[in-house]
Amino acid sequence: MSEPSSGFATAQVQAGYVPGVVHSTAVPPIHQSNAFAFSSLTEARELFALRRDGDIYSRAANPTVLVLEERIAALEGGTAAAGVASGQAAVAVALLALAKQGEHIVAARQLYGGTVDLLDETFADWGIDVTFVDQDDPDAWTAALRPETRAVFAESITNPNAQVLDLRRVAAVAHDAGVPLVVDATLATPYLQRAKDFGADIVVHSATKFLGGHGTSLGGVVVDLGTFDFTREPSRWPQVTAPYRRVPGGSLVERFGAHGSPYIALVKTKYVHDLGPSLSAFNAFQLLQGLETLDLRMDRHSSSALAVARFLEQHPAVARVHHPGLESSPWRAAAAEYLPRGAGSVFSFDVHSAGDPEQDFALTEEVVGRLRVVQLVANIGDARSLIAHPASMTHSHLSPAQLAEAGIAWTTLRLSIGLEDVADVIGDLDRALEVAVPASPRLATLGG
Ligand SMILES: *Cc1c(COP(=O)(O)O)cnc(C)c1O
Repeated sequence: MSEPSSGFATAQVQAGYVPGVVHSTAVPPIHQSNAFAFSSLTEARELFALRRDGDIYSRAANPTVLVLEERIAALEGGTAAAGVASGQAAVAVALLALAKQGEHIVAARQLYGGTVDLLDETFADWGIDVTFVDQDDPDAWTAALRPETRAVFAESITNPNAQVLDLRRVAAVAHDAGVPLVVDATLATPYLQRAKDFGADIVVHSATKFLGGHGTSLGGVVVDLGTFDFTREPSRWPQVTAPYRRVPGGSLVERFGAHGSPYIALVKTKYVHDLGPSLSAFNAFQLLQGLETLDLRMDRHSSSALAVARFLEQHPAVARVHHPGLESSPWRAAAAEYLPRGAGSVFSFDVHSAGDPEQDFALTEEVVGRLRVVQLVANIGDARSLIAHPASMTHSHLSPAQLAEAGIAWTTLRLSIGLEDVADVIGDLDRALEVAVPASPRLATLGG
């Protein structure tokens, strides 16, 4: 891992890879191999016991994936990371390693739709209870805590409405309760915000989005920021403080505490090993290619998105723009404090309501149907500008009450602004939104 003193851009192209192994390839190669040969049975035994570093089998670890893990850990200022098959897998294994049956998680209710599905239904099936709170209400976080709470979870910038989390405040609530704060930093990326600087303990990413940046490869990452001390209350965290059968030599803290991450060791040797959501070497390679230009892309994404938001704010078809860089946003001060380099690419806006959900759906469908540059795609963080209708797409599993709590209306459209010429994106939206301009009283009078 490169030294923390090296710059962000240096780390994003170099961390985690030392040329000179195998064929001295300058770029990390794709180690497309399920498994790795041992020189002897003794070596195999040492590797299986984790007494020696080395490669065994790609479900557990792969050299190309390892470069990605070390690079993202370096960018986040963490001690170790686990690369997994998707962002969804990252959220799942990050939280499963903290909370088991009978235990509890407090989560923001402004979450990505897939995460709501996971926490509200699948975790409930497994006996892990989740309380959802309004992330801007500090009393609600505190009131939701229980003796069996094991994690606090939120997105640093929410999808789709780009609400900016008051990280310091939520971190303080979690730490007062003796539990780690887990942050989904997918929209922020380590370039716009290092969550560690504001008190987060564990970061998860959907690398599918901005880390890869080209819309080609699913992936996820869990990063241990090394700030949470599991040994302060050992009885609460037996998964890392009690003897661990899979790694001989005591507990994971005893094995990895000093200079590694007992938590990431648990994520890998138990949850990724048992459930199998491994990241492929090929996808890790693709994500590494994207990662090398993260800072350049995030600067462009952020400035273009703000320009589009300013354009939409004055458009007569638009009722509201949810972008934390705008003067009108309730999260403007939070964005200035937590996201000084820009608020990223993803935000949403509401067109004027036509009256009821069916009419609103028809109206938004007409707007989306007229777009030529911005594409209707259920993704974000692509080089292309993408639009989605959360109520019928990414958040369609939510009840009407959950939609309202998450601030999503039938008139809400989510944008992920890409790397095109911003004038083309604005022109495209302008043309498409013409159909949604409510007839002005003056025009109606003239017409009558
Ligand atoms: C997309 C997304 C996820 C899920 O990631 P996948 O890679 O699609 O599994 C999780 N959190 C946020 C904020 C996302 O945008």
